[in-house]
Amino acid sequence: MRKSNIVLAGSLKKLRLLPLAAMFLIPMSGFTQNNKGNTTESDRAELKYKQRHSRLNANNLYADGIKIKRDLSILKEIQEERILSEDEIPAEDLYGGIWNNRYVNAYRSIENIPDTFKVNLANFTIPTTGYITSNFGPRRRRMHYGIDLKVQTGDTIYAAFDGKVRVKQYERRGYGYYLTLRHPNGLETVYGHLSRFLVEEDDVVKSGDPIALGGNTGRSTGSHLHFEIRFLGNPINPTYIVDFDNKVCHKDTYMVTANSYNRSSKGVNVNNLASTPTRSKVSTTNKYASGKVNYYRIKKGDTLGAIARKYGTSVSKLCSLNSMTAKTVLRPGKAIRTS
Ligand SMILES: [Zn+2]
Repeated sequence: MRKSNIVLAGSLKKLRLLPLAAMFLIPMSGFTQNNKGNTTESDRAELKYKQRHSRLNANNLYADGIKIKRDLSILKEIQEERILSEDEIPAEDLYGGIWNNRYVNAYRSIENIPDTFKVNLANFTIPTTGYITSNFGPRRRRMHYGIDLKVQTGDTIYAAFDGKVRVKQYERRGYGYYLTLRHPNGLETVYGHLSRFLVEEDDVVKSGDPIALGGNTGRSTGSHLHFEIRFLGNPINPTYIVDFDNKVCHKDTYMVTANSYNRSSKGVNVNNLASTPTRSKVSTTNKYASGKVNYYRIKKGDTLGAIARKYGTSVSKLCSLNSMTAKTVLRPGKAIRTS
């Protein structure tokens, strides 16, 4: 650990020495966060280390949430790749500025919960491909606020959306080792019964990033992932949002309403799926609503061309299915739609 510490500090120094011209080319929006607050240079370096130590290698250098490319001419891509900066609180306004590292539901003090709230579900990644072993809803003694998905102990668990690690805790009689992530789209997700953490408190993650290994800790019989989706602390039946058979979200947005907090074990509430009434009329053009949908999980070294050949399709078709360009960086572990 200590050794990588030092290596990283060196790399960060190098980043500061980028040619002045190149610095001007980076979108200014990426730097506005830097001017906030009074954090010292050493604080910043430490934060950066904490943030990114697990990903740093010769080809991927990150600073201030921007992926610094060797070729700085691909500006559009850098802008698209910009993620939360480490001192940013996701959905801060919605959550009344609350950022608490201890409790899953830390929001009982918040009043004026919006009646409706439209959640952007772009870039969803299924946390595990395991099948459902237990649904959301009432159980004999207590409510089951999530859905259980089969995993083997040691299976990788992935972040469902871009976000930031809010809670990393252990609960002997409940979740076991568990994580809660806050997402910029306003949702929070909870991952329970883990065997190992792969992230730290306050780490910024991207959708599809490995965050933990599955397990059987806490109140659990048999290894599985307990997965919750919450909005301002209130659990939502995950099947309202996620199609667990096809490993995708039902739609590209979800409207949170009073119905979202329905505690019955009923499955998909179809009326609540459409983002707006007009949306359902154009559902044939919704990429999540058409016929057969297949996904492939990107491996290290994959190219769009190779994936296209493997699935008998074209690069341009893959691009349109996934709202990406031929230049978009493929991230190992992330699912890509192939049909
Ligand atoms: Zn469960």
